[in-house]
Amino acid sequence: MSNNSSLAVGIDLGTTFSAVAYLDDLGRPVTLQNGEGDKVTPSVLLFEGNDVIVGKEAVKAFATDYAAIAECAKRELGYRMFGKQLGGRQYPPEALEAWILNKLRMDAQAQIGQFDKVVVTVPAYFDEVRRKATQDAGYMAGFHVMDIINEPTAAAVAFGFAQGFLKDDGTAPDEQTILVYDLGGGTFDVTVMRLQGSNFVALATDGEVGLVGRAWDQRLVDFVAEEFIRKFGIDPRDDANAHGRLWREAEDAKRTLSARNKCTLACDFQGHAVRSEITREMFEDMTRDLLDRTAFTTRQTLQAAGLEWSNVDHVLMVGGSTRMPMVAQMLRELSGKEPNRSVSADEAVAHGAALHAGILLSKGAGKESQFRIKNVNSHSLGVVAVDVATKRKRNAIVIPRNTPLPITARRIFKTEKANQRSILVQIVEGESSSPDDCVQLGKCSVRDLPKELPAQTPIEVRFKYEENGRLTVTVLVQGTDKALHHELTRENSLTQDQLDSWRQYISGVPAPAPAG
Ligand code: ADP
Ligand code: MG
Repeated sequence: MSNNSSLAVGIDLGTTFSAVAYLDDLGRPVTLQNGEGDKVTPSVLLFEGNDVIVGKEAVKAFATDYAAIAECAKRELGYRMFGKQLGGRQYPPEALEAWILNKLRMDAQAQIGQFDKVVVTVPAYFDEVRRKATQDAGYMAGFHVMDIINEPTAAAVAFGFAQGFLKDDGTAPDEQTILVYDLGGGTFDVTVMRLQGSNFVALATDGEVGLVGRAWDQRLVDFVAEEFIRKFGIDPRDDANAHGRLWREAEDAKRTLSARNKCTLACDFQGHAVRSEITREMFEDMTRDLLDRTAFTTRQTLQAAGLEWSNVDHVLMVGGSTRMPMVAQMLRELSGKEPNRSVSADEAVAHGAALHAGILLSKGAGKESQFRIKNVNSHSLGVVAVDVATKRKRNAIVIPRNTPLPITARRIFKTEKANQRSILVQIVEGESSSPDDCVQLGKCSVRDLPKELPAQTPIEVRFKYEENGRLTVTVLVQGTDKALHHELTRENSLTQDQLDSWRQYISGVPAPAPAG
């Protein structure tokens, strides 16, 4: 079967739940159901013999096969291996993400036919390493990843579309400032965006890992476990399967409490049982501090953007956890505005990704695009330099954070010795002046410098940060325009050969033929 080249999807690859959307014939984003008939798919994997099961069925095995379950792989992107062994084997986290993406691809293809193009979303604070890992996951899942886009930007794009100010080109709508509050299961972040005409500009972004839906679940788990200990002197959290089951039930109870004022949370363990009645008020009391922390980050982000609430036109709630009534209430009190729910909390990010994919497709077809997305980088990019005076290594920042993208920065390195044939550039991401406290992006080695260069020959290294936060490096001998061969070796990244064989293994899709 051949790929439909005018078809693409957008994927919200979430820490706990993922969603897929495409554009219908009228160019409107529509969420695709998965094979189980749901609009969102749990980002959970179950390793069973040679099979990898993704989604709802994997979640069901929480209570029986917890040891064979992988969850929250997204949090471990950037590490070489996922921390938990699965079936006696360790996997790179991006391979686990690839299995999730592969299921989404197969389920989508069953409905809309063959295609391979995709836009995948990433948190705004993701560094370059994790962006690359996300793109690699898409590749291993058999996709052609057209682009990655920040989640809050995607949500804002979906919002802009729903408001109708992306459709009427020509008439520039008024400038709007929106604050995107995204509380998911595995990530929390706040982004202030400005919509200028059809431009989307991120002004400030911040977030906190761990301050998320799962932390709310944890409070319920602990509440019941403590009651268990009081009554029977044993802790159901000591047993992985019992703990897994309690997690599932707690998450379910939390959802119930978004709709009802009370619920019962049951826990059976070693022949004993506890049934706890929990009211919404009790639940809100036991998680108040978590909510307060999100309020604090929200205020801080607004401040970082140099704005006040009176400058904010809309407060956008995104992420499944914003269904908890306490969230809307807090945002209402904080901002003095009614939070906007015009885009679905679960679907907005995937819809924005699908819209972005649509723009890229029409660009590819030579059509004028309706809107532009402007991003800033969320981390500074630097190279490791040796301080002449102290001989200490330091991070020489080349592109500071919050620089509008794309941007190219140049830096001149000089050869030390005459006839030197190679140089090594170490690239880091982060704000600290000590390279050890930064993310090691990798090393760029330039070999085959022309022969007989005198000492101190300037070599120009150009860093280009793309709009999507990905880095490309080019190297030139100054005064010539000849690009030199260089290799960017990344610390915890898979090689092209590894990517190709994972791709074959996970998706069964062969590597694309080299362009030519
Ligand atoms: P992520 O993008 O981090 O994977 P999502 O935005 O998909 O997360 O949100 C998932 C989280 O939302 C989970 O923690 C889930 O328990 C929570 N959630 C979903 N629906 C509800 C609800 N009705 N009430 C409370 N929490 C909910
Ligand atoms: Mg999300």
